[in-house]
This record gives sequence, C-alpha cells and structure tokens, in this order.
Amino acid sequence: MIDYRIGEECGVFAVYDPDGDCARTAYYGLYALQHRGQESCGIAVNNNRDISYYKDMGLVNDVFDEGILSKLGGTMAVGHVRYSTTGESLRENAQPLVLRYIKGNIALAHNGNLVNKGDLEKELSISGAIFQTTTDTEMIAYMIAKQRLAAGSIEAAVERTIAHLAGAFSLIVMSPQKLIAARDPWGFRPLVMGRKGNAIYFASETCALDTVGAVYERDIEPGEIVVVKNGEVKSINTYVKTKPHSMCIFEYLYFSRPDSVLEGQSVHDARILAGRNLAKEHPADADVVIGVPDSGISAAMGFALESGIPYGIGFIKNKYIGRSFIEPTQSMRENAVRIKLNVLQSTVEGKRVVMVDDSIVRGTTSKRIVALLRKFGAKEVHVRSSAPPFTDPCYFGTDVPSKDQLIATNRSLDEMCELIGADSLGFLSVEALKDIIPNAGCEYCDGCFCGKYPIDVDKYLNKYDEGDD
Ligand code: AMP
Repeated sequence: MIDYRIGEECGVFAVYDPDGDCARTAYYGLYALQHRGQESCGIAVNNNRDISYYKDMGLVNDVFDEGILSKLGGTMAVGHVRYSTTGESLRENAQPLVLRYIKGNIALAHNGNLVNKGDLEKELSISGAIFQTTTDTEMIAYMIAKQRLAAGSIEAAVERTIAHLAGAFSLIVMSPQKLIAARDPWGFRPLVMGRKGNAIYFASETCALDTVGAVYERDIEPGEIVVVKNGEVKSINTYVKTKPHSMCIFEYLYFSRPDSVLEGQSVHDARILAGRNLAKEHPADADVVIGVPDSGISAAMGFALESGIPYGIGFIKNKYIGRSFIEPTQSMRENAVRIKLNVLQSTVEGKRVVMVDDSIVRGTTSKRIVALLRKFGAKEVHVRSSAPPFTDPCYFGTDVPSKDQLIATNRSLDEMCELIGADSLGFLSVEALKDIIPNAGCEYCDGCFCGKYPIDVDKYLNKYDEGDD
C-alpha cells in the first residue's frame, strides 16, 4: 500500500540578487531554518542557462564549506532543509530536486505533504513516468514538466499543476531565468517574502529573512504564485481565497522558531498565550515553573506570568548534539537523557515544580525527565503541555507517530499521568487554541488534535486502501 504519510517537516529558502553571491545567502538562510529539518540539505543556483546544485545528507554546516559555496555563486538560489519521518532517509530524496526536461532545467524545493500523492503517482506512471525518489516533490516536478508542454511559460505550468494538487505545499520553483514561490490554497505551511535593495527573498520563516538582513515584506497568500524575473515581481491569484485558510497550529506551538512571525502573529507571543491559557485551565500549587528546552520555554514563561509562580531555568541543554551523535549503548541508558539535557539542581531541589513542555507525544521524554527532576530533589512535579493531546495523524507535513504509539490513545488523563510518573498532568484544550494566535487573522488546522481536517482526507485514504494492496 502506498504510504501517504511521508512526513516532510522541511524548510525552504530562495533569493534573487543580481549583485549577490546567492549560494552564500542561501547558506545563511538555511542555517536559520535548520530546526525545520536536519536530515539533508541542498542549494541550487542558476548558472547561465543551466542550474548547478549541491546537496547531501547532514546539517547545513556539515554539508557546505567555503569551496563548495564559492563554486556555486549564482544570481538566484533555492535551498532546502529536510526531515523525513517514514524511514525514507535516502540521499536521493534530498532537495532541491533538479531535473532536466524538454524546456531545460528546473529546481524545486518543497515543504509540506500532498494527500493525493497516490493519484498523482498513478496518473504520471500511466503516462510513462519513472520516479527516482519516494517524495511527492518529484511528482510535482513531473506534473510541472508535463503541463509545461502545453503552457506558455513555467509559471503557467505551475498554475496548471496546482489544480492537480491536494494538500500542503510551500513551494519554490527555479528555472535559469525565473524564481517562483507558490503556496497551497489552504496555506498549511508558512511562506514569506522579503527584500533588501534589489534583492528579493522567499523563506519558510521570517527568522531566515532577519538572518540575511532582509526586510519582511509580506506572507505569500494561500493559493498565490509569485514570479520573479529580472527583479520584476508578478503575482498570479487564480487560487487565492478558493479554500479556507488552514495554517498549521503546531507551527506556532512547536515547529517554528520563536523569533519568527507567521501571518502577523509572533510565534513566541503565541507560546506565551498558550502558557497563560494552560495556567488558567490547569493551575497548580507550586514554587517554580520550568520549561523543557527549546520550544517549552516560551510557554513556561506564559504559565509563570499568568499564575504568578516564579519562572526558573530547570534544564540545561547541550547545544552541540548533531546528526553524528552516537546514541548511548544499553549500559549507558541511564545517562541517555542527561547527555542531551541536565537538571539545574538549585532550581528544583526541595521545590514543587511545574514542568511545561510544548507537547507530549508518546510520553517517553516526559517520563524520563520527570524521573530526572525527582532524582535532583524535586518534591512534586506537575507536568503541563501547551499542545492538546495528539489524537489523530497529520496528513500535511507534521510527524505524528501512529495511533498505537500516542500516549493519549485509549488512556484517561489519570492513566497518562501515572505513566509519566507526574503528580498532576494537564494539556491545553483544543478550544483554547483559537486564543493563542489573536494577531494571525486566519483560520488554522488542528486536525492532529481533533481529527477534523480542512480537506476530506478519507476520500484519498479509502481510495488507496482499496486500490493498492
Ligand atoms: P515524546 O517523547 O514522544 O512524548 O515526545 C515529546 C517531545 O518531542 C516534546 O518535547 C516535543 O518538543 C518533541 N516533538 C513534538 N512533536 C514533534 C515532531 N513532530 N517532531 C519532532 N519532535 C517533536
């Protein structure tokens, strides 16, 4: 059966700069987006009428060096960081995807996940397509190449292609002359545009614009296609406002960097509000509030502000754990957590502690760190999650483990609390999610917390189940 949950928690970055060394700019942009994917990364640049690229498994810092960047150059570049979730940790799945077709070369970088990957695969395979990767990005690329045969331009081909896609995509397409940014009509994943002088930038998050010194201009609208050619910007709005805006709420809770602003809403402020609401819904009698690094920190501050309980630094995280980290052997298991995270004893010893994390998925992390806090003398540990319990899969690009692995499946709150060894446990309610993004001015998708999705996913799932076994 086709697996349509190849999770793609990725980051994209692109730049047009007639005066710049675009590969280098993309390197810094991707560096800022590293949190969105640590498995592989790549940069493609225009090279006269051709496209050159370099990509590999690993972190941006490990994959690129001075020699590689100086050879790439370019007046346009597109970059990608990738995180996959279904064991598809393959070198050939690294992006940008660069392919040659009848009209020349194109490069593609994609964040998101299509729900009709199976339909596309069938449609394209019947017409003779052979796939080199297991990504839906390749299907988008083939579809663009196919549509380009009848369309007058690459942007017209992208426009026609979007009619065939269902699901999440924040997409960058680069031909040797044009840079195109497109966002799915639901706007599941973020995509922003910025400028500096003559240069134009696209990025998954504003933190990448800040990093390269660009000024944020606007979010790409859901369904919008923005085309940059020789510094001229054109917008194609065929699909704008054709679907309900369904920004992923988990971007605010966990995925994006706190210094990013998505749809006008600061991520840090959203987390503070999540923490404040959590304190209202699940108060605790305690002496100190601590956050689990990194994404639990802002929510813990919000909890402390609302409850009046002092905020303290409870954990110190080792910043240098990368891909090459060797997992501890069985005999070192005891220390496994403490290699990554250690407790600041003076904060928690003899205290009643509220420990805030951004989410509890399987409960493994909480279980380990609750035990660690007790070992360091915490008198009580009250665990609070600024995300509601995960109940359902995400089909749009967030990695949610299968139902049997989720802590909330078939367990009451008391049972979950017992499992992680806490004195009390509280999750932010699904209802409170609307209160955490007051400045976003858009609707959001919270399907992984309630099973209700803005796209009728059953339509695609049932089809696959019948046809592919
Ligand atoms: P667990 O041990 O399965 O309960 O995982 C909880 C931890 O995983 C939390 O500290 C989160 O910060 C982190 N987390 C939550 N969602 C994701 C995700 N989609 N990908 C990677 N890490 C995640």
